[in-house]
Amino acid sequence: MKTNRRIVNKVREIYGRLDSQTRDQANLAGVCRACGKCCDFGEFDHRLFVTPPELMYLSAKMGAENIMPMPTSRCPYNIDGKCTVYEHRFAGCRIFCCKGDADFQSKLSESALEELKALCTEFEIPYHYTDLAGALNSFARA
Ligand code: SF4
Ligand code: SF4
Repeated sequence: MKTNRRIVNKVREIYGRLDSQTRDQANLAGVCRACGKCCDFGEFDHRLFVTPPELMYLSAKMGAENIMPMPTSRCPYNIDGKCTVYEHRFAGCRIFCCKGDADFQSKLSESALEELKALCTEFEIPYHYTDLAGALNSFARA
């Protein structure tokens, strides 16, 4: 997957907006204690879906060779309970908090997805909304 600086910059803007919205409405966003439990989607009964611009962003930041497959239900970037790509984590990781308000998260998620979808349209990238394992495994295969 080719990366494009303009796409990366636009994803950064989307993430920046998400971060300021969760910061400004901390009472709805919830306080994450960074225990890492929700990064094991099987154990926590949680799902994380990602879009191509988010993978392009991670790839640009980490190097495509460092995009790892996901052979288990745990995100491969969660090592010893900690997110090792915290600065570059996906929109869903920025939005979800087990202590947060579900409606607030749902609205944030909808608006972020609209923006990510619009990015795909603008840059003629096929839009997919794929669970993390599927997205990482197919990226690693490509
Ligand atoms: S990117 Fe980080 S926060 Fe998101 S699921 Fe993976 S380890 Fe967890
Ligand atoms: S959102 Fe909850 S489960 Fe996930 S890391 Fe934070 S405190 Fe742990």
